[in-house]
Formats: sequence, structure tokens, C-alpha cells
Amino acid sequence: MKKFIRQPAQNTDIRTFMFIWETTMACDLVCLHCRAEAISRKDPRRLTINEGKRLLEQIVGFGKPTPIVVLTGGDPFKREDIREQDVMTWSVFFLVPTGRGLIKDEITRDEYEDVMNWLYDTSRYIRIKTTEGHHYKRVVIQLSILEEEHTDPIREMCLGKTYLTLRDQLNRYAQDSLLPLDAKAVRRTPMNINAGNGFVFISRRGDVFPSGFLPVSAGNVRDTSPVDIYRNTSLFCQLRQPDKFNGRCGKCEFRYLCGGSRSHAYARTGNPLDEEPFCTYQPGSFPHQLKLKNYLQESSMS
Ligand code: SF4
Repeated sequence: MKKFIRQPAQNTDIRTFMFIWETTMACDLVCLHCRAEAISRKDPRRLTINEGKRLLEQIVGFGKPTPIVVLTGGDPFKREDIREQDVMTWSVFFLVPTGRGLIKDEITRDEYEDVMNWLYDTSRYIRIKTTEGHHYKRVVIQLSILEEEHTDPIREMCLGKTYLTLRDQLNRYAQDSLLPLDAKAVRRTPMNINAGNGFVFISRRGDVFPSGFLPVSAGNVRDTSPVDIYRNTSLFCQLRQPDKFNGRCGKCEFRYLCGGSRSHAYARTGNPLDEEPFCTYQPGSFPHQLKLKNYLQESSMS
């Protein structure tokens, strides 16, 4: 059976899949909604290049397969000692009201649903990766099943005006200038990782967070190994136990593949284990439960 969600090859209880290092807060754009609260000058307390090299050496302590290391900022190009390569994926960031992001800038839950369904349509033309939009994984599975069942997603997914507007624009644009991806690349399946579960963020000063959008530090690499922090601190361990999440996320059939945005939960209530506030799904409500159960089982197996 086809898998709709990719599983990390490693056991994420002991080895993170991805490791984010915020190399700088300097960025010329200085966007109003910036998570990093970027400014145009560098932070004198940022990790030095030698501390950064030591950090990268420590990551080897996770063992093989070595985590993917992503350098972020600010703008990493503002550091003359660091260079970054380009990628061929559209990485869609959903706003978390942290840093300079404000709650009033957020879209609604229903608009989230519309946008994620539209992203699925768009993934015919470009690879999509969502950040802090974990229930996109749920949407991918549901839409894949509805396609197989030849069922109308607009009705089943309760899609609204935002979806219809975006879909029409995409169709117009596709007629003019978009080429579908080749069959192998189509709908690159999302990776099953989440804050603290296959994911670590190191701030420019060496603080260790489960995500760059979840500002709860579990330690600092200047005095504790990031491997130890990831594996053993109670914050990271709790984030790897979706059964203990509060509200709908803790009882949802998608909790092991989605789990919701822990950062959104924290931003809304101060508790990173609370339910994802921007998901409309009611656990158990998807009509094709038998097929869903099979897909979830298949997708959960590595
Ligand atoms: S209720 Fe939570 S776990 Fe379930 S799909 Fe929504 S965000 Fe994901």
C-alpha cells in the first residue's frame, strides 16, 4: 500500500531527524512578523564560528543516520563565515504568534483548512513542506483517500470561499505557465516529525528549544550536550508522547502522524501539550474510518 506520510529512519526517542541552528538574528528585511525578531545588525552574543563548529561535531554524538542540519536566521548570508545551499521545495511557514508575530495576524481555523487543501492541489506543481502546519499531514491522508473513493473533497472537507478562490487562481495560473511535477516527484509526502520529536532548534546563543517557534528552553549547549538535552529532559520526552497531549490531539486517530503544532498550543495557552488551536478536525469524524485505519497503520510503520 502507498504511504502518505514518511517515517524518519531513526528512532526519534534517541536521535533527532532535523537540527536547526539559528546562526544570526541579522537580516536586512526586518519583517514585522519575524519569529526571530530580526534586526539589521548582528548579535554580539551569537555562537562564534568555532562554537558552531563544536556544535556540529557534537551532533555526530546522535549517531547514524546523522541528523539533517539546517542553518537559519535571520539571514545566514549575513554571516560571511557561513554559506548555505539552495533547495527546490516551497517551505510554507504558518504564523506562530511569537517574536514579532501577533495573534491578530493569524488566519482562522476554517481558513487554515482551506489553505491546506489548496496546498495539496498545489503540490501537483511544486514540492510542499509546511512548518507549524502539522495537520497538513492529516489533510494529505484524507484527500488521498477521498481521491481513491472518487468523493468530492469540497463537501467532505467542508471547504469554503478561501479554498474556492485559491483553487480558481491556481487553475488559471496552471493553464498559463505551470507544469506538473514528474510522477516520481508529485506530492512528496510529508515527514513525520514535530517539535522535540525528530526536531531540535539551537538559538544563536546556544539555547536548546524543541522548535524555533516554541520558546521554552531545555538547556544550553555551552554547558550541556545537545544529545543529552534532546534525549533526557522532561520537556523533550513529553513532546514525544502524543497520547498525553490534551484535548482533541490526545485522542485523535492522527496523533502519531500529526500531533498538531505544539508551538501554536503554547502560544495560545502557555502549555505546549494542549490541543492545536487551528485544526478543525473532530477525532473519529472522517467517514472512511476502516480505510483510514489501514492507511495510518501502513504510514506508521517505518
Ligand atoms: S486534532 Fe490534533 S492530532 Fe488530530 S488532526 Fe488535528 S491537529 Fe492533528
